[in-house]
Amino acid sequence: LQGLIISLQLVPYGYNQKLLISRDITRFEKIETMRRDFIANVSHELRTPLTVIGGFLETLSADDNVSSSFNKRALALMTEQTTRMQRLIEDLLILSRLENEQNKVNEKIVNVVSLAQDLLQDAESLSAGRHQIKLNVASQDQLLGSEEELRSAFGNLVSNAIRYTADGGEIIISWEKRHDQGLFFVQDSGIGIEPEHIPRLTERFYRIDNSRSRETGGTGLGLAIVKHVLNRHEARLEVISKVGKGSRFNIWFPAKRLVSGNA
Ligand code: ADP
Repeated sequence: LQGLIISLQLVPYGYNQKLLISRDITRFEKIETMRRDFIANVSHELRTPLTVIGGFLETLSADDNVSSSFNKRALALMTEQTTRMQRLIEDLLILSRLENEQNKVNEKIVNVVSLAQDLLQDAESLSAGRHQIKLNVASQDQLLGSEEELRSAFGNLVSNAIRYTADGGEIIISWEKRHDQGLFFVQDSGIGIEPEHIPRLTERFYRIDNSRSRETGGTGLGLAIVKHVLNRHEARLEVISKVGKGSRFNIWFPAKRLVSGNA
């Protein structure tokens, strides 16, 4: 049996009995590994040429000799699309690192309060005064986990809240303790999400409104990244939303991940 990957599943069977199902998933796992490696390699290879293109576009844009309005517009468009591709490649690389289970979480004690304060600052600069952004910190508890990964997951929720909320809307970033669990949430008064879309939001490239997501700089990978980070932290995502009223993305961390703030 060496080299075989077996999946075992215990299911209820008849009255008070259980059935053990064993499946050979060796082939499936091999294909999954190949897919992951392929995406990681392609993304990595595309990074360098894009950096070169981006660099020259920047130089050309700063050149006073670029005179005609057509050239200026072409340069601006090329720069915008290059930045989009770069963001997409960075997100693909983050996702493939997270999917690789051998890259274990580098567990440290993460100060969620100061992380939330950083997020507030990032949110304010992203929003540029277009929204009212509030921070609510009701717990000093810290979290056992990877600061980099948590920053990326929380940051994606915050940037979504800004992107899917019209000017003048309100956004709340919050950290508290509820029923022994750690609760981090981002709430917005934005466009909201219809119930049938909610179960699929964390799929790669799943978007409700393609053009809106692209226009606002989305890669379609943000919530897939969130899902992977949460799996690695034994945390759970809960989405509560009402179309036209707004959304709230709750992240629940189990008690065993909490470290008392006074420790
Ligand atoms: P994207 O880069 O397209 O925003 P995400 O994975 O972050 O990708 O989100 C997936 C989709 O979920 C988005 O395209 C959008 O339709 C929806 N969505 C995410 N966050 C919000 C939000 N706060 N309000 C409304 N819709 C949202």
